Order: sequence, then structure tokens, then C-alpha cells
Amino acid sequence: MKQSLWLKNNESISAPTLKQHTTCEICIIGGGLSGIYTAYLLAKLGFQVVLVEALRDLAHGTTAYSTGKLTAQHGPIYTGMSTDQGKMYYEANEKAIERALETNPKSFSRATSFLYTNTAKGKEQLQKEAESYKKIGIPLVATNEIELEIPIEFALGMKNEGQIDPIEFTHHFAQLAKKYGAQIFLNTRITTIQPAKNSVTTNQGYTIHYKKLVLCTHYPIESIRNLYSVKLQIDRSYLTATKCSQLLEGQYLSIDEQSRTIRTAIVDQQPYFLYGGRSHLAGTVEHTQSYYETLHSELHNFELPEPEFSWSAQDVMTSNQIPYIGQLSKKDDSLYIATGFNKWGISSSLVAGEILRDLIQKITHPAAMLYSPTRSSFGRQIYFMLQTGGFISKEFIKGYVSRSEAPRCTHLGCKTRWNEADQTWDCPCHGSRYNEKGLVIEGPAVYPLEIKKSGDS
Ligand SMILES: Cc1cc2nc3c(=O)[nH]c(=O)nc-3n(C[C@H](O)[C@H](O)[C@H](O)COP(=O)(O)OP(=O)(O)OC[C@H]3O[C@@H](n4cnc5c(N)ncnc54)[C@H](O)[C@@H]3O)c2cc1C
Repeated sequence: MKQSLWLKNNESISAPTLKQHTTCEICIIGGGLSGIYTAYLLAKLGFQVVLVEALRDLAHGTTAYSTGKLTAQHGPIYTGMSTDQGKMYYEANEKAIERALETNPKSFSRATSFLYTNTAKGKEQLQKEAESYKKIGIPLVATNEIELEIPIEFALGMKNEGQIDPIEFTHHFAQLAKKYGAQIFLNTRITTIQPAKNSVTTNQGYTIHYKKLVLCTHYPIESIRNLYSVKLQIDRSYLTATKCSQLLEGQYLSIDEQSRTIRTAIVDQQPYFLYGGRSHLAGTVEHTQSYYETLHSELHNFELPEPEFSWSAQDVMTSNQIPYIGQLSKKDDSLYIATGFNKWGISSSLVAGEILRDLIQKITHPAAMLYSPTRSSFGRQIYFMLQTGGFISKEFIKGYVSRSEAPRCTHLGCKTRWNEADQTWDCPCHGSRYNEKGLVIEGPAVYPLEIKKSGDS
């Protein structure tokens, strides 16, 4: 069965569905970690916050399907930044993490985060990354021996990082947000945004009037589709969890071509070994079962049993691996966004909360410019946008030629693709996913698929 390890506990937070028109100072769409943490920080300051979540529970979007590493080590990214940028990025993440930990979330534990490689080229790359760590002042470990029995050339550790159970962690902040007066509504999907009227409408026809709107929907939803359709790509990857007897001291990510992620966790008093990797652009692969099978067979290298849990998830990628957090446009100070977490949205959600909180209060956050959604679009970003635009056009045409019978995505009309292993309809254009009945699992789509029954013309 495809299920995330973190859903094993079945912990949930009760909240009503919105069943009347309402007004608020801050409306937050999305009850993943980014939305919840932002709600907590703003409610704590006394803002009147309303958060709406489409699903039946909080943190059941991408957050529930992550690996749960809470770290500022986001792959070998610091080599590509100037020392000032790297310092800003590292400190924004580290300080946000430390401030979140002051609230004592119970699932947190410390671990050194390691990047490792088994190639000479990878070693060279990590040694350069280590030089960047030194310039920035990041506490590091450089080694060619790790606790895992796998061949490695080199590993670069970032000390004092951590790991969490992502659902428990998000629920902890949801409880705090509620304590400070935030109103949370579940089973409430926003279908339209009317920025000119400062209002949004739910799937049940109720209106929320706001002073400020914060979009924490992972991929930006339908109503603002034109802004982001070529600035973001969606990448999907695979994870497994199998019972083990010993916990690891570190958490690991290989930087080699076939990247793998590794950590251990205790869930329901049982230690688990999490092992993941393999990725592809979302919605582009029909036979995803082989992705799971590769991971299952590699677990034998660790002499571990068949995994009890296997799942896949996707995240939103940007051109320079830095998320978009902040005001959507320079002219409008009522619309804010947090997206493009590049598979590192656990710590980046905390950064997002802090940046959004400061912007709403007109306070300058030290890293606001680095993360700004309106930052300049030269060079790499232009290339990325052209590449993404080309990919979407190609997939759009290909869908109508080769899968003309497949249901049309309700976002922008691309033909979806049936994903046999996950039993979902996946859209290759912007990553919307639907269950076998056509109900939205994740956006940007906000309306269900029309699935023709056999015999329909
Ligand atoms: C395989 C994998 C492993 C990962 N591992 C890590 C890791 O170890 N560490 C790390 O830092 N990051 C990791 N990430 C990234 C991280 O999981 C995500 O970036 C992060 O969880 C995103 O949080 P979010 O709140 O933005 O999105 P989500 O958790 O997806 O929350 C968005 C919410 O918005 C809701 N929503 C959407 N549309 C609407 C609407 N119209 N109306 C109302 N609600 C709506 C959704 O239902 C959803 O609950 C990983 C990602 C992947 C894919």
C-alpha cells in the first residue's frame, strides 16, 4: 500500500468547515507547515487570522510526505552563492529553526546533516562546498567514513541540524496558532480569488474578505495562474520506510547522479529506516512502480526487510534553488506568497513565516530581498522560464495527440496521465493530481476532473 510513514499515527486536529461569510485581517490559504507557521506567528502578534485548508486535516499535503529533515543543508547550494548570500540564507534558516524550537515541539531531535558522494568528481564538488561553509562560518565535519555501510569517497557534515515528524511538528504550531486566536477551517477549498475586492470564495460559495491574503497552497492556485506557470517546475520523488533496530546519529543525502536520502525515525515507539530518491518531472511518468521497486531492492544492501511504507511526493522548484517568499507584486501590499521550496520546505516554511510576518508589519527581514518573488529575472531564470514554457507547450500538444481520451486537467486544460502505481490522474503541465474518482488531491487545480464513464461519447 502507498502510504507515508508519518500518517501511521493518525493524529489529527479538529476544526470546522467554513459555513458563513466572514471577514478578517489576514487570510491564509493552505494548512501545510508554511501556512500554519505563518498563522502562528501573526496570531501571536495579535492579528486576526483566518486559515483555510482544503483537506480534512492539517499538514496532510506535501508536508506529510516529506523526509522531515529540519536543516539549512539543502544540497550543495552554498558554492553557487556569494559569501554574503550564503550567510544570509544559512542564517535565515538557522535562526528560524532555533526560534521555532524555543516552543519545544516534541518530535524534534538533533542530527548532523551529511552530503556524501562515491565519485572523485563529487568529492571535488563537496570540497568546494566545504570551502564555502568555512567562509560563511558554518560548523562542518569533513570525513571519508560514515556510520552507514555504503561505499563513499567523501562526506560533508553540517553540525547541529535536526529532524522532525512533520505532521506532529505542524500540529504543534497549529495548536499554538489556535491558542493565540487564529481561526482554522478544514474541508474548505478556495476556488476563486478576487484581488480587486480583497476577497476569496470557497467551494461552498462563502466569501472571506481580508486586508491581506497569504497564499501557502504549495503551487500557487488557479486564480493567479499566469504569474507562476513558467517560473516553477514540479519534481516528484519516492520514499520508503522499513523497520530497523538501530537509530542513526546523522541524516544523509547523496549528491551523485542517482541521489538518495537517508534518515531514521521513531514512530509509534518503532524505529524506522527511511530511504528515498529517484525523481522525475511530475506527471511525466506512467509506470512509476519501477521507481518504488528500485528503492525496495536497494534496501537489501542495508540488510533490511521489505518496507512497510512507500510513498511519493512532489515539490515546487525554482531556477536558483531559492524559494519565492514575499509580496506577489511590488505595487500590491495585500497579496503575499510562499512557494518554490525545492524539496527543502520544512525549514523554508519557518523562514517564510518570519519573512511574511515582518513584511506585513513593514519590518525589513534581513533575507527578504534574497527570497523576494519579484527579484530580477536575468540569466538563469530567463533560461529556466523558456525551458519550462517549452516543456509545458510540448506536454500540452503531446497529451491531445497521444492521450486524447484522458481527462483534461481543470487548471489549464492539459491532458492528464494515469499513474498506475499511485492510482492517480497526474497533470504533467503544472503538477495537479486527482484521485481515481477525479477529486483534487493537490493543486493548482481547484475543481474536480470530469471523468467520462465507459459508454459516454
Ligand atoms: C519526497 C520529498 C521529501 C521532502 N523532504 C524534505 C525534508 O526532509 N526537509 C525539508 O525541508 N523539506 C522536504 N521536502 C519539501 C517539503 O516537504 C515541502 O516543501 C513543504 O512541506 C511544503 O509545505 P507547504 O506548506 O508549502 O505545502 P503543503 O504541505 O503541500 O501545504 C499546502 C496546503 O495547501 C492546501 N491547499 C492547496 N490549494 C488549496 C485551496 N485552493 N484552498 C485551500 N487549501 C488549499 C493543500 O491541501 C495543502 O494542505 C520534501 C519534499 C518531497 C517531495
